[in-house]
Amino acid sequence: MDRTVKLRVRVDYATYSALKEVEEEYREVLEDAVSYGLANRTTSFTRIRAGVYMTEREKHKDLPSHYIYTACEDASERLSSFEKMKRKGRAFTDKPTIKKVTVHLDDHLWKFSLDSISISIKRGKVFISPTLPKLFWKYYNGGWTIASEARFKSLKGNVVELYIVFRKDEPKPYEPKAFIPVDLNENSVSVLVDGNPILLETNIKKITLGYEYRRRAITTGRSTKDRDVRSGLRRLREGDRKADIRWKLANLIVKAALEGRSAIVLENLPRNTPEKMIKGIRDPQLRLRIYRSAFSSMKNAIIEKAREYGVPVIPVNPAYTSSTCPIHNCRITYSPNVGSAQRVGKCEKGGELWHRDVVALYNLVRKAGDGRAVPLPSTGPHDPPTVKLGRWLRAKSLHSIMNEHKMIEMKV
Ligand SMILES: [Zn+2]
Repeated sequence: MDRTVKLRVRVDYATYSALKEVEEEYREVLEDAVSYGLANRTTSFTRIRAGVYMTEREKHKDLPSHYIYTACEDASERLSSFEKMKRKGRAFTDKPTIKKVTVHLDDHLWKFSLDSISISIKRGKVFISPTLPKLFWKYYNGGWTIASEARFKSLKGNVVELYIVFRKDEPKPYEPKAFIPVDLNENSVSVLVDGNPILLETNIKKITLGYEYRRRAITTGRSTKDRDVRSGLRRLREGDRKADIRWKLANLIVKAALEGRSAIVLENLPRNTPEKMIKGIRDPQLRLRIYRSAFSSMKNAIIEKAREYGVPVIPVNPAYTSSTCPIHNCRITYSPNVGSAQRVGKCEKGGELWHRDVVALYNLVRKAGDGRAVPLPSTGPHDPPTVKLGRWLRAKSLHSIMNEHKMIEMKV
């Protein structure tokens, strides 16, 4: 299990240009290694290294040889993930494009100590004294060890960004006593806490669309190579905002599961972007972006967090989770006439009403193997309490959100 911490350090000009020089040559080796892999139809690190090593050694005489190794590893990873994307039909180019480069370091190329980090350059070493952020100390003092590999890249204004990897063994998952089902949607995530459904707004689709409009406003009629356009795009920080939502949510869910010694039940998402999951978006790239951030990245964050704490995760088949009545085991039909935006459906046998997200939660638990998890029909028709993004982002736990909600209900 790995966690990466970014360190930004302002260095003197000599150090900066020495690292910049390494970065440029590393990029050249990487480009050659990727081309070699493509030409020889291989993604294997050993084959790529064997194929390019001698020529690269000649071309980059003073560059420490381990940079050629790490660049070949980098190339092998890029080629494998490109192959994977191609198989899934998600590659938008016919060969991998090398846009962003971070220089990969192995244990020969860098040494870490708390007051000074050394990095090999051509004909020597540079030393960097970083200010270590809070997140660094959290892992450093939290039983994680610093991995032997790291990465760096140069930013503007003599700033170097270092990526330090922390590693920890995964704790063994416990035997679950209960289940916490989690249902992911494009704008919300619903959870069943102590038998009570709750819907947490994430607004992922709305946020993604919002950024898309702003991105278009910045780039329309201008080149993306334009400096103003580039800095404008960077300032949007869409990824940071979504990652923040994702990790906070994963944290809340995993903590609740840990407290109740429960297992988290998640839908095993289909391999390809399911059309019905993202409604009303025609552009395939935009559709994929929404799918990734609302479904797959969200799911991965929960799995990662759960792994960190030894919380078991049970994946279940997503088929019919929102269209089967958990009481009568028959179909639930959703028609535009019943309820708003087809979120509420009617049971064909019992005639009771169900909120789509709530049905999914009960069915997830049933599929995970708990037959007792059947709600009273009277709780069905009501919409689950919805918690706004700004409110749950600040909450300490899912229980505190539930309690706060009950207090508000009592006042009403
Ligand atoms: Zn029913």
